[in-house]
Amino acid sequence: MAVPVRDAIIAGNWKMNYGPRRAAEFTYEIISELGMLVNRYPYVLSILCPPAISLMAVREVLDAHLFRRVELGAQNMYFEEQGAFTGEIAPSMVRELCSTVILGHSERRTYFGETDGAVNRKVLAAFRHSLRPIVCVGEHLDQYEAGSTEAVIRSQVTQSVAGIDAEDAPNLVIAYEPIWAIGTGKAATAEGAGKVISLIRQLYGEMYGGKAARELRILYGGSVTSANIGEFIAHPDIDGALVGGASLKPDFLEIVRNTIEVMQKQQ
Ligand code: PEP
Repeated sequence: MAVPVRDAIIAGNWKMNYGPRRAAEFTYEIISELGMLVNRYPYVLSILCPPAISLMAVREVLDAHLFRRVELGAQNMYFEEQGAFTGEIAPSMVRELCSTVILGHSERRTYFGETDGAVNRKVLAAFRHSLRPIVCVGEHLDQYEAGSTEAVIRSQVTQSVAGIDAEDAPNLVIAYEPIWAIGTGKAATAEGAGKVISLIRQLYGEMYGGKAARELRILYGGSVTSANIGEFIAHPDIDGALVGGASLKPDFLEIVRNTIEVMQKQQ
């Protein structure tokens, strides 16, 4: 089996769905098939990201199955190490259970006022604790329609992922999620998303050099389903997907299956 330049990531962002009981149940429903798929084709990594309160419940199911390529991720965390920050979770707490943390999701930016500066502090904290950050960037519909996507992405990327140590830089993951495509059923085209993703790779190269840019995994997110994942994966610059709604259903398995199918054809 030829080794692809970058392995793919299919991450499921469950958002504020599935408390501990339902989260464990759903993980049981999909884990055997999911685990076998990614075991058979180890160049796809799948990451389940339940709400914080359900992480332990999902962790227990994953530990009972031990599929190496099914990992656990949190949807957010704070950048401070500990202390009087009611309602927040610290990077070290996330690290006890997870390999990965989603940072700067557009819903965090829109509803909870997260700025690029705060996202940047979280990214640096994640690396201090050996967590893999998935940093979300993306433009609003009015910005897209005004033709300012490039300027918005340039500003978000340069600020959110600044100051990373050279040895950590290749381990970052960026998710390009046009906000107008999230939860709307109106996905971007692979060509349109690919153009923005190529720009992100170029920007990252300017910040951290060619090697880090070549190793950086950039995901597409926004109304991904089993019906459209193939087009995104077929694009040479798109390295997987951050999946919202469809990750709450068995369709998530189909998304992983279709990803593997396209990647195998590319080899
Ligand atoms: C998301 O929340 O990151 C997302 C892409 O959602 P959806 O797949 O439902 O559009």
